[in-house]
Amino acid sequence: MEIQFLGGAEQVGSLGMVLRDGTQKVLFDYGMTPSDPPEYPLPVPSGVSHCFLSHCHLDHSGMAPAATRGPHTQMVTTDLTRTVAELLLMDSLKIARAERYPEPFSYKELKSWTSKTVGMRRKESFKVNDVEVDLTSAGHVPGAAMFRWRGSKDLIFTGDVHTRPTHLVQGAEPLEADILVMESTYAGREHPDRAEEDDRFRKEVETIVGGGGQVIVPAFAVGRTQEILMTLAECNYDIWVDGMGRAVNEIYLDNPSYLRDPRALRRAIESAYIVEAPYERETALSEAEVIVTTGGMLDGGPVLHYLKALHRNPKNALFLVGFQVDGSNGRQLLDSGAITFDERTLRPKLQIKTFDFSSHAGHSDLVGLAKAVRPKTIVLMHGDHREALAEELRKEFQVLMPMNGETLTV
Ligand SMILES: [Zn+2]
Ligand SMILES: [Zn+2]
Repeated sequence: MEIQFLGGAEQVGSLGMVLRDGTQKVLFDYGMTPSDPPEYPLPVPSGVSHCFLSHCHLDHSGMAPAATRGPHTQMVTTDLTRTVAELLLMDSLKIARAERYPEPFSYKELKSWTSKTVGMRRKESFKVNDVEVDLTSAGHVPGAAMFRWRGSKDLIFTGDVHTRPTHLVQGAEPLEADILVMESTYAGREHPDRAEEDDRFRKEVETIVGGGGQVIVPAFAVGRTQEILMTLAECNYDIWVDGMGRAVNEIYLDNPSYLRDPRALRRAIESAYIVEAPYERETALSEAEVIVTTGGMLDGGPVLHYLKALHRNPKNALFLVGFQVDGSNGRQLLDSGAITFDERTLRPKLQIKTFDFSSHAGHSDLVGLAKAVRPKTIVLMHGDHREALAEELRKEFQVLMPMNGETLTV
């Protein structure tokens, strides 16, 4: 078998991997990097019959409509990922238009992508000619899947994976295989204990609210918004939710089989106030103790409105609960104490704290996943410091670290 990364081998972003097995040619994920300007993977080679999409995040799905542009390529993913990805792809097209970036696919191609996409349920299998492809949960976010290709060898493609349960989803359910193509975002880094991090977060919120301040929690719409609501569910704060997280809340509640505890999510969502229209932001500003809102890296979305209104008061706080990528406003704020948007630079006086609510497996979790899959060969992808993990895995496995564009025989 041969594999070739079209992008995302040596960095977190723009992931795409072609697998050739005999006469079969399939693609796993086809994402983009939402930087300024956006970055895209290499073009899809001709003759790809199917694209298997692990989950909705744009670094995996952002170019999916371009992958199914030809008449013969079908997309396969979970039904939940199809629904959420459509929402995110629509939004990314809107951003491309607003920012005047060239559009990587048309609205028509996005609509036709939806009709060319087969939505599978958890633990189902799909047939590509005579090859069975099994689907199993990757943890990470609701609907995220790992795929096992059962061709001349068994190969697992993890997409993004989390092996431990969160409030929202159970951990990944690994299968065995000869080859494991594994993400390595957190190679060399561990996460704190989640229950302790939850406690620290709740205590810090209590300190701010108890001192008469308001907390802004910038959070990604998919997964993190809901995780934060569930973490605070028993605390009885006036919590307001703004941004695209509202729509994702509804989609998740319509797909309870992907959730660890659908009733707990419903309780958490119903105990929060929802900003239904922009004029309600003023009510949120005067009444909220906690505001959970997109965008997670302060690069856009309603969070900037709240930050502008609340940044002068040192009793207030900004709690960053997601990874702040280099080049983002969130990263700039952490590194320099200043943030620039709408051609203004703010030096916020509110308190800034970071928390680790990551939905990726940490270093030891990735080693544990490798041991559970028991492969001969591990291909590390989707990480910018893969060597830190390779060193440890080489004691037991053959480890490969391809570069983008390079073809590997496995
Ligand atoms: Zn992801
Ligand atoms: Zn990813």
